[in-house]
Amino acid sequence: MNNSFHNSVRPLIYLSMLLFVFSGFQNSFSLDPYTVRTVYFIPTDSVDKSDWLDLDDIMKSSQNVYRSEMNRHGFPNKTFRLELDNQGDVIVHKVFGRHNKAFYYHDTFGLVVSEIQQRFNDKKNIYSIVIAGVPAIQGGWFGGMGSARPWNSDEYHGFALSAETSRENTEQIILHELGHTFGLWHIVLYNPKEFILGSGEKLSLHEARWLSKLCYFNNQWNFGTAPSIVKFHNTEQLDNGKIRFSIDIRDNSGIHQAYVGLNTNIVGWDFFNGSNNNDTAVFDVDLGHVLGSNNIGVQLMDNDGNWMYYAQGYALPRQEPTDLDLYRKNFDEKFGDKNYDLKPVSIDDGEQLGNPDLSKQAFDEKFDNKNPEDLDNNNDEVKHVCEGCEVSIEEIPEDDDTNLKNPRSVNTRNKLTVKWASLKSLNR
Ligand SMILES: [Zn+2]
Repeated sequence: MNNSFHNSVRPLIYLSMLLFVFSGFQNSFSLDPYTVRTVYFIPTDSVDKSDWLDLDDIMKSSQNVYRSEMNRHGFPNKTFRLELDNQGDVIVHKVFGRHNKAFYYHDTFGLVVSEIQQRFNDKKNIYSIVIAGVPAIQGGWFGGMGSARPWNSDEYHGFALSAETSRENTEQIILHELGHTFGLWHIVLYNPKEFILGSGEKLSLHEARWLSKLCYFNNQWNFGTAPSIVKFHNTEQLDNGKIRFSIDIRDNSGIHQAYVGLNTNIVGWDFFNGSNNNDTAVFDVDLGHVLGSNNIGVQLMDNDGNWMYYAQGYALPRQEPTDLDLYRKNFDEKFGDKNYDLKPVSIDDGEQLGNPDLSKQAFDEKFDNKNPEDLDNNNDEVKHVCEGCEVSIEEIPEDDDTNLKNPRSVNTRNKLTVKWASLKSLNR
């Protein structure tokens, strides 16, 4: 990777929900817990543009976006607390980085956060940070990054790091990354452009409902034990093709809400009325969202806002290999020793999963000794691999990672799309 920022960075791509292990602090500030603090982090060769950026305005505007969205969903006057001075202005902590911009280029989040931890020791606050003079983070791939920890963690609860781009973009990034620090995940089930956890300014109902119990959005809290998983049932395939996850949950103060997600994306939620100590969360998830993985995130909140995240292994009910498995296997056998940089990562399936025509023999006939880079949608060789289903091949540019981790299911009947991605992208 070179040292210039990637040309095709889209500032509103985010990575999140990384749970880090942190340690160590030196200095101490005194502040109510569960408050969002604002930090302007300045590398040695960056110009202090905090007057132009006006974080007082950006943070209050973000606070108002959350408030109006909570209000729209029936949770009036709830938003996160901001650290303010006696005049009601946002306190902007300027932290002077020990290194120049280049030092923070690749692991921006980890390096900045480690210096922030040495400056502040209030772990129950959330730190909203803008890094001065750096227009994209993590080697130029992202506009921002956020981390979250459950309510009772001994570690720092949350960091929301934003690049410094236009004021409008910076505010959008802060909105989004703060959402992660509150325990929200990305959105794949509806238009991500409209929502805070995409690149817009809306909260969905399940997000507002989650935030309504969170200590950062309330003035008092009643901490107890977060919900626990009693039993994670075997997955079932439903007649409509969806995969059902059923999880028995227990909590002493009543269950409020449950999420399942993969790769930073929420793929299902379940609401409870908070009156039961034992209940079963049920999620019917599109196969395309859980294909090719064996680990699902389960996030549970009780009636008092105590929440916990669990990583849960699972197996799909089908025992036979999926089309994607077959393609990968065939690809490895044909091309694995040839250093080709392309590999199928997902198959968008209509109703063709398990089609026996997508066999090794069919693959051999069509793909034998061909360079996959020569295959494209117009190449007859890649069409009609199986009778009755059209196969097209779409190459994903190396710098477009939006779909790599999220095989999508589509509803197109009799059409299969094999997506190819570079190994470099997959391994990143
Ligand atoms: Zn994100």
